[in-house]
Amino acid sequence: MGEHEPDGGRKVAEAAKGASGRKSGKTASAGAGGAGSAKKTASARKAAAAKKAAPAKKAAAAKKAPGRTAAAKKTNGKTTSAKKTTTKKAAPISKARPPKKVTIAPPKATVALGEAAPARTVAPEPPKGESRTALVRRARRINRELAEVFPYAHPELDFENPFQLLVATVLSAQTTDLRVNQTTPALFAKYPTPEDLAAANPEEVEEILRPTGFFRAKTKSVMGLSKALVEEFGGQVPGRLDDLVKLPGVGRKTAFVVLGNAFGHPGITVDTHFQRLVRRWRWTEETDPDKIEAAVGALFPKSDWTDLSHHVIWHGRRICHARKPACGACPIAPLCPAYGEGETDPEKAKKLLKYEKGGFPGQRLKPPQAYLEAGGKPAPPLGATG
Ligand code: SF4
Repeated sequence: MGEHEPDGGRKVAEAAKGASGRKSGKTASAGAGGAGSAKKTASARKAAAAKKAAPAKKAAAAKKAPGRTAAAKKTNGKTTSAKKTTTKKAAPISKARPPKKVTIAPPKATVALGEAAPARTVAPEPPKGESRTALVRRARRINRELAEVFPYAHPELDFENPFQLLVATVLSAQTTDLRVNQTTPALFAKYPTPEDLAAANPEEVEEILRPTGFFRAKTKSVMGLSKALVEEFGGQVPGRLDDLVKLPGVGRKTAFVVLGNAFGHPGITVDTHFQRLVRRWRWTEETDPDKIEAAVGALFPKSDWTDLSHHVIWHGRRICHARKPACGACPIAPLCPAYGEGETDPEKAKKLLKYEKGGFPGQRLKPPQAYLEAGGKPAPPLGATG
C-alpha cells in the first residue's frame, strides 16, 4: 500500500499524528488549568480540520495509485512476478478501477524451444478433483506435445548391440550418459563380448571405468553380469524381463531400457527424471518406482511406453530440472500444475536450457541418423573434449 500513496499518505499520517499528539496535549493542558485553554481551542480546530481533510486526501491518493505502481515498477527495472503483483494490489484500487482480465495460460501449448513462453500473470490451480478421464487426456496431451518438441528422442547411451546397452546402462548410475559414452569405447574395444569381460582382470577394468565414478562396484557388476550371461544364457542377453532382472546389478529400470531399445519391447523407464516429472504433473502420487511404473503405464497404451519414457527423460534433462525447472521456456507450461516451481522469467529460463535445447551438443557421440536429420547436435568426438 505504501507505494500507492507516498505523499498523500504521509501527510495524512502527519496530520493524524499531530491531531493525536495535540489531543494528548489537550488533556495535559486541561489538567494544568486555564492558561492552556486558547492553545487548546486552536489545537482542537487544527485537529478537526486535519480529520476533515483526511478522507479527501485518501481518495486522491487511491486515484493516483495505479500510475504510481507502474512507475515504480519501471524505475526498479525488475520483472515482478505477476502472482506477487496480484497479491499486493490493494482493495481501494480495485474500487477506483476495475481489475484487468488475467491470463492464466498461454493460448497454445506448443512453444518453439528457445522462444520465450508467454508471461503468465497467475500460477495455475493444481488439478484438484481432476477426473480420471481428464487426467488421461492431460497426460496424453503432454506426451504429444513433448513428441513435437523432441521428435528425435532416443536412448542417450551409445550402443551397437544388446550387450553394450546393458553394460552402458549399468554404468550410467550416478553419472551422465555423456560420461558413459566417453568411457565405453575403450571398454568395448578391449572386451567386446560377455566372455571377454567375464575373464578380464578386474583392476584393468576398474582403471577404464574410473571416470564414471563408483568404479569398483561398477566393475564388479559388469563382470558379474557378463559371467551370468556366459553361464546361464550362452553369452546372449535374454529378451525377457524375468531373465534380465536375475542378472546381478540389473533392476527393472535397466531391464526396460534394454527391452525397449535393443529388443523393441515396450517398457517404461522409471529413472530419477521420470519420477520427478510425473509427480510434478500429478500423474501419480506414488513414490515407489514399481508403483509409478504401474500407475503411469495405465494412462497410456503399451505401444507408447518406450517413447513416452524418452520424452519424459529428455524433458527432465533439458528443461524441467530438479532444482531449477525452466518454466518460462517450457512448452507444456499450460498443462503443468507445477508451473512456477522454477524460473518463470522467459529470458532467465532460456539460460537454464541444457544440451541441444540450450544450443549445446547432445550426449551421444554416435547418435542415430534420425537425430541428426532432425537437427540434433552430437557430442564432440572423443579427444575433442577436455
Ligand atoms: S519446467 Fe515448470 S512448467 Fe515445465 S513441466 Fe517443469 S515444472 Fe512444469
